[in-house]
Amino acid sequence: MAVDVTVVGGGISGLACARAAAAEGLSVRVLDRGRRVGGRLASRTLWDRPVDLGASYFVVGESAPFAHVVAGWQERGLARPWTDTFVAISADGEQQKHGPMRWATPHGLRSLAVDLAEGLDVRVKTTVEAVEPYRVDGEDAGEVVLAMPGPQAARLTDRAPGAELDWEPVIAVALRWDRRQWPADLRGAFVDAHPDISFIADDGDRRGDGSSVLVVHTTAQRARHHLDDPAGAIPAVVAATRDLLGIADDPAETFAHRWRFARPTAATGQPFHRAPGLSACGDAWGHRPAVRTAWESGHELGLALAGS
Ligand SMILES: Cc1cc2nc3c(=O)[nH]c(=O)nc-3n(C[C@H](O)[C@H](O)[C@H](O)COP(=O)(O)OP(=O)(O)OC[C@H]3O[C@@H](n4cnc5c(N)ncnc54)[C@H](O)[C@@H]3O)c2cc1C
Repeated sequence: MAVDVTVVGGGISGLACARAAAAEGLSVRVLDRGRRVGGRLASRTLWDRPVDLGASYFVVGESAPFAHVVAGWQERGLARPWTDTFVAISADGEQQKHGPMRWATPHGLRSLAVDLAEGLDVRVKTTVEAVEPYRVDGEDAGEVVLAMPGPQAARLTDRAPGAELDWEPVIAVALRWDRRQWPADLRGAFVDAHPDISFIADDGDRRGDGSSVLVVHTTAQRARHHLDDPAGAIPAVVAATRDLLGIADDPAETFAHRWRFARPTAATGQPFHRAPGLSACGDAWGHRPAVRTAWESGHELGLALAGS
């Protein structure tokens, strides 16, 4: 069946785009190669509970439409304010760092993507090989939207918008201990100028179940050494985490996930790319790559498609 819009990519930007276009009366289909929607909003069941292996949290920001969506999630128990205070660890020691309220989810961040996908025509396990204006894999597709990192979009077309941006990898390592061995008010820690790790999140705290699980993000430099073998990053991550948090034992269980395109090193500054038949949205479209940027980019592109 012909559709008005085909969105390639079922991360938060693609789903926000699809929802906005569908709400304005367009027929929309979302295609994603993953087993489930969410992309970098990635929660995986490890050790009998969801662990966030992609984005750690989100910030609501200035956008009233996004704040409205978040209020709905909060009302339905899908998201909750987590903390406005992290620890900053540097060569000079540790200090509390205040910032905007960070939001977390009881069921893992992917649950928000699942919520956005509700009622949409979403086809998972569907890898798109090639796009051109108005066509996906040679079939009529209406307006085509590429909602993914530029380097992934560049595999599908030689005219992928945003393909010129550089992206950095991250390996996310989940570590489970049999008991909690770090300060109860750790919540999260930015690690400055460390060769191996950049961020530590207390997954039990953000989830609200108190589990003794940390998720640690490597630096891009460390990740580049292990792109073909993400588990190879685990020893360096364990050593750095134990050292910085003063944890006596090795973790009981570990798991590593590679993000080849975790974040763009710069953003385009434009809210989205719009051209007849082939548009693009995602976290590189905006001023600062983040969950809220991706949602806003997709939402605004969806409205623009409906308005044209
Ligand atoms: C380790 C890590 C930590 C992060 N931490 C934070 C944080 O704390 N706070 C924050 O705000 N943001 C964070 N981010 C960024 C945030 O996750 C992203 O900004 C946001 O999720 C991007 O959404 P998106 O829809 O633009 O892209 P994605 O989520 O990448 O979605 C792209 C989708 O396209 C699909 N796809 C790709 N190629 C194809 C194809 N050929 N055919 C079909 N489907 C395809 C993929 O399967 C994927 O689902 C983090 C990201 C990472 C990786």
